[in-house]
Amino acid sequence: MLYRSTRPSAERVSAAEAIKTGLASNGGLYMPEQLPVFDTDSLRALCGMSYEERAAEVLSRYLTDYTRQELLDDCAAAYSDARFPGGAAPVYALDDSISVLELWHGPTCAFKDMALQLMPRLLSGALKKTGEQRTAFILVATSGDTGKAALEGYRDAEQVRMMVFYPVDGVSRIQKLQMATQEGGNVAVQSVVGNFDDAQTGVKKIFSDRAAAERLARSGCFFSSANSINWGRLAPQIAYYFSAYCDMVNTGCLRLGDPLNVCVPTGNFGNIFAAYLAKRSGLPIGRLICASNVNNILTDFLRTGVYDRNRPFHTTMSPSMDILISSNLERLLYLCAGSEKTAAFMEQLRTTGRYSLDEPLLEEIRRDFSGYFCSEEQTARTIRETYEQHHYLIDPHTAVGLHCAQRYITESGDTRPMLTVSTASAYKFSPSVLRALGADIPADEFDCLDALSRLTGTPIPASLASLKQKAIRFDPEKAIKADAMPDVVFAEAER
Ligand SMILES: *Cc1c(COP(=O)(O)O)cnc(C)c1O
Repeated sequence: MLYRSTRPSAERVSAAEAIKTGLASNGGLYMPEQLPVFDTDSLRALCGMSYEERAAEVLSRYLTDYTRQELLDDCAAAYSDARFPGGAAPVYALDDSISVLELWHGPTCAFKDMALQLMPRLLSGALKKTGEQRTAFILVATSGDTGKAALEGYRDAEQVRMMVFYPVDGVSRIQKLQMATQEGGNVAVQSVVGNFDDAQTGVKKIFSDRAAAERLARSGCFFSSANSINWGRLAPQIAYYFSAYCDMVNTGCLRLGDPLNVCVPTGNFGNIFAAYLAKRSGLPIGRLICASNVNNILTDFLRTGVYDRNRPFHTTMSPSMDILISSNLERLLYLCAGSEKTAAFMEQLRTTGRYSLDEPLLEEIRRDFSGYFCSEEQTARTIRETYEQHHYLIDPHTAVGLHCAQRYITESGDTRPMLTVSTASAYKFSPSVLRALGADIPADEFDCLDALSRLTGTPIPASLASLKQKAIRFDPEKAIKADAMPDVVFAEAER
């Protein structure tokens, strides 16, 4: 299967090539030329498999230049019990209608691990398959969770170096500590003044700057990405929707072939787009609920067809969703409207900050997607009520999703089973969670972890508790302006 750009181009590349380069040369994102189709028999076969077997099986249909055995080895290593204690993607039945897909059992306690534990292995395979001698220099802009998950996934990987940028005031203190204490000789971290979009725009600018690429080449490196614009990030995410569906069939929550609605707390539109791809590849998914916090640009988009980023940016207790440019939306536009129109929309977005869908296109997108958003107060209330009613502890991102799932069920009367995605451990955002539960918030971050554990009788994830003993390696207070990002990249590449 070959991959092409979401914008007009005759270029066709292998999956390995797409994963290696990240972004197509005309600025578009890579997409498979056709999508594989899973029929009922292949779904039934998946039901009998372990998580790593399911992931390898699903991926083998998209990454056709990787052998089944390569994928199986990679998935077995990435999703081992040691890395994901409690299972890679377990489903928890909250009540009769809603199940929760827990994607935060990995090393950094957020769902980004699902992709970023596997992606370095896919990249390493890609470098071999394409005969690449140079070192991949990975640039990441993060709203908090991607950065740490990428650093952890790629640390000390061969033929790879990495530079992570994050907005100094846009991430939680634990997230900051996770990145500031990162180990590994091939990785560096830098805080940036501004919000996530400033950091992401800075990274995109470097990626598209020919002179920067030439200068990097003189150090024996080439730019690559680990953001969810990279197909290697997206593909592993498709697998857990198949897996969750199978788990629900196995436990009797679903009959094989019956539709399952899915609700995803959304930022860059990567996670929910993976669910949409699963649907287009034959997984019986009903409606997709796109859940946002008060940065509700996607809610407005799905209601009106107008994507308009000319609006205030809000800092919320779900910072990984504080995003006004949802890059993966481009892939949805491409699938629904084709590459010509997609390129025109992206050009309008670049020059005016907005674009507007025509009515038929909006209708087509609304056949699959509904958009809801959740205020800060509703987020806190959902954390509290979920704990009081179900003794189930959730983080603010998960609460945004759960609130929107419940609203959708109430407002639509759609009674099909609902899967809502839990994207982070509550311990990653313990001050917000403690406040929502009506508890006192200790001044010290680690006292917050202890307090949450005492209050709820749940264990602190080991990877967070151990941060306390680690030395600061990258000082968060030394933030740079976004326009200084290229200098920092070259200083790192040329050191
Ligand atoms: C990244 C992230 C999201 C948003 O996911 P997208 O793929 O960007 O839509 C939601 N919740 C958490 C905890 C995240 O880290």
